[in-house]
Amino acid sequence: MGIPYGRQWIDEEDIKEVEKVLKGDWLTQGPNVEQFEKEIAQYVGAKYAVAFNSGTSALHGAMYAAGVTKGDEIISSPITFVASTNSGIYLGAIPKFVDIDERTYCIDIDKIEEQITEKTKVIVPVDYAGYPVDIEKINHIAKKHNIVIIEDAAHALGAERNGEKVGTQADMTMFSFHPVKHITTGEGGIITTNNKEYYEKMKVFRTHGITKENMSQNPGPWYYEMQDLGYNYRITDLQCALGSSQLKKIEQFIKRRLEIAEKYDKAFKDNSNIQTPPKKENGRHVYHLYPIQVPKERRKEIFEKLREKEIYVQVHYIPVHTQPYYKKNYGYKYGDYPKSEHFYEREISIPMYPKMTEEEQEYVIKTINDLTK
Ligand SMILES: *Cc1c(COP(=O)(O)O)cnc(C)c1O
Repeated sequence: MGIPYGRQWIDEEDIKEVEKVLKGDWLTQGPNVEQFEKEIAQYVGAKYAVAFNSGTSALHGAMYAAGVTKGDEIISSPITFVASTNSGIYLGAIPKFVDIDERTYCIDIDKIEEQITEKTKVIVPVDYAGYPVDIEKINHIAKKHNIVIIEDAAHALGAERNGEKVGTQADMTMFSFHPVKHITTGEGGIITTNNKEYYEKMKVFRTHGITKENMSQNPGPWYYEMQDLGYNYRITDLQCALGSSQLKKIEQFIKRRLEIAEKYDKAFKDNSNIQTPPKKENGRHVYHLYPIQVPKERRKEIFEKLREKEIYVQVHYIPVHTQPYYKKNYGYKYGDYPKSEHFYEREISIPMYPKMTEEEQEYVIKTINDLTK
């Protein structure tokens, strides 16, 4: 079957919880959605949470709540999934980038201000691989320029900074529940926030822009109003029952990821051809990915040989600004963000998921060391 770079953990408990919903009255928009939102909000320590049918639609909702409109600029870093900036483009925003900091693989905070103009509306810092960015410094910049921060924490459920969970320090924080992420709902995502206005806007946006509150008239109990253009971005009760069941295991999942990371750190310490990922000081890195860097001229060969040996590694990510759509529409080219490109040319994401066994990890370590030493 081989060893993938990441995969879900579904057990009998999860199946039982989903089965209960299947046998009940609601498949969608039942009590499990709100329950799951409450549990996530509580876990990260936020006041509010709005669940969506994907992490991408959640980001779109957050961009809408932040008031992004045509011609606004949004800022992220190139080493991320395309959704980080696509979500603003949906509303007509122009994507701008700041290169990564080679020490964290996240946005280089010292370079953010160079990219800010009077049109900058949103900054999207990405907690790449599960490393929580230094949000305090970004908040300081954002406050000065009246910019909204939407933290892309798709990789970082359970990550911590100075004892606080990621999920409250940015204006809005997105978590994804795609099967390779920390917990899964099949597809799904959520925004956590302490801001009531953002919360209410996202709830309406998620369901066509339709509301029964603050209506211009109320002729009868059947009446509702569509006050703005929204989408059907609702998540189902089935998915949220799975999410709640998964969330019970989050600490166990993270503990296992941390053990795997520590074992990799040790195993590659003396291999000069492998650079291992950074550790987080005064915080908790949650290792959605374990990205190693190998010599550029050997990356392709190592990647292919690992796959031949049924170790299904991946590369995260192809720098967003080098995607044809971004080149064509915004004039970006290879060479614009050298640190991101340098990282991309060397990166390989090796297997990292709680279900990986000791034996599997030992096989991965031995294979990689034999290939690279
Ligand atoms: C997974 C992911 C998303 C959201 O993806 P969905 O598949 O829509 O849940 C956004 N940003 C990053 C960095 C991701 O890894």
